[in-house]
Amino acid sequence: MPDDFDRAQQTEQMFRDDALRDQALRFQPGDPTRWQGLSALRCLYDGCGEPIPEQRRKALPGVKFCVECQQRLEKKGMR
Ligand SMILES: [Zn+2]
Repeated sequence: MPDDFDRAQQTEQMFRDDALRDQALRFQPGDPTRWQGLSALRCLYDGCGEPIPEQRRKALPGVKFCVECQQRLEKKGMR
Protein backbone atom coordinates (compact mmCIF):
# COMPACT_ATOMS: atom_id res chain seq x y z
CA MET A 1 0.00 0.00 0.00
CA PRO A 2 1.85 3.12 -1.18
CA ASP A 3 -0.46 5.32 0.87
CA ASP A 4 0.41 3.63 4.14
CA PHE A 5 4.09 3.83 3.30
CA ASP A 6 3.90 7.59 2.74
CA ARG A 7 2.07 8.08 5.97
CA ALA A 8 4.70 6.09 7.87
CA GLN A 9 7.44 8.24 6.42
CA GLN A 10 5.63 11.40 7.37
CA THR A 11 5.20 10.15 10.90
CA GLU A 12 8.89 9.37 11.16
CA GLN A 13 9.63 12.93 10.17
CA MET A 14 7.24 14.19 12.80
CA PHE A 15 9.14 12.28 15.46
CA ARG A 16 12.13 14.47 14.75
CA ASP A 17 10.12 17.44 15.91
CA ASP A 18 10.69 18.16 19.57
CA ALA A 19 7.18 19.43 20.24
CA LEU A 20 5.65 16.21 18.97
CA ARG A 21 8.22 14.23 20.87
CA ASP A 22 6.80 15.67 24.08
CA GLN A 23 3.30 14.90 22.91
CA ALA A 24 4.28 11.31 22.14
CA LEU A 25 5.54 10.85 25.68
CA ARG A 26 1.97 10.97 26.92
CA PHE A 27 1.19 7.65 25.28
CA GLN A 28 2.18 4.74 27.44
CA PRO A 29 3.43 1.36 26.22
CA GLY A 30 0.07 -0.06 27.35
CA ASP A 31 -1.64 1.61 24.41
CA PRO A 32 -0.02 -0.15 21.44
CA THR A 33 -2.96 0.20 19.07
CA ARG A 34 -2.18 3.84 18.60
CA TRP A 35 1.38 3.04 17.54
CA GLN A 36 1.07 -0.26 15.75
CA GLY A 37 3.48 -0.38 12.85
CA LEU A 38 5.10 2.94 13.68
CA SER A 39 8.45 2.92 15.38
CA ALA A 40 10.32 5.92 16.64
CA LEU A 41 13.76 6.61 15.23
CA ARG A 42 14.97 7.78 18.60
CA CYS A 43 14.01 6.92 22.14
CA LEU A 44 11.12 9.11 23.25
CA TYR A 45 11.89 8.74 26.92
CA ASP A 46 12.42 12.16 28.44
CA GLY A 47 16.07 13.16 28.35
CA CYS A 48 17.21 10.03 26.50
CA GLY A 49 16.95 10.44 22.73
CA GLU A 50 19.12 7.39 22.02
CA PRO A 51 18.82 6.19 18.42
CA ILE A 52 16.76 3.02 18.22
CA PRO A 53 18.49 0.39 16.05
CA GLU A 54 16.62 -0.52 12.89
CA GLN A 55 16.70 -4.16 13.95
CA ARG A 56 14.80 -3.32 17.12
CA ARG A 57 12.28 -1.16 15.28
CA LYS A 58 11.55 -4.01 12.88
CA ALA A 59 11.35 -6.62 15.61
CA LEU A 60 8.97 -4.51 17.70
CA PRO A 61 6.57 -2.56 15.47
CA GLY A 62 5.55 0.58 17.30
CA VAL A 63 8.56 0.60 19.58
CA LYS A 64 9.39 4.06 20.85
CA PHE A 65 11.97 3.54 23.57
CA CYS A 66 15.50 2.18 23.62
CA VAL A 67 16.14 -1.11 25.42
CA GLU A 68 17.17 0.51 28.68
CA CYS A 69 14.20 2.86 28.90
CA GLN A 70 11.77 0.13 27.85
CA GLN A 71 12.97 -2.08 30.68
CA ARG A 72 12.74 0.81 33.09
CA LEU A 73 9.14 1.48 32.07
CA GLU A 74 8.15 -2.17 32.22
CA LYS A 75 9.55 -2.50 35.72
CA LYS A 76 7.56 0.55 36.76
CA GLY A 77 4.37 -0.90 35.29
CA MET A 78 4.81 -4.28 37.00
CA ARG A 79 5.73 -2.96 40.43
ZN1 LIG B 1 16.06 5.54 26.06
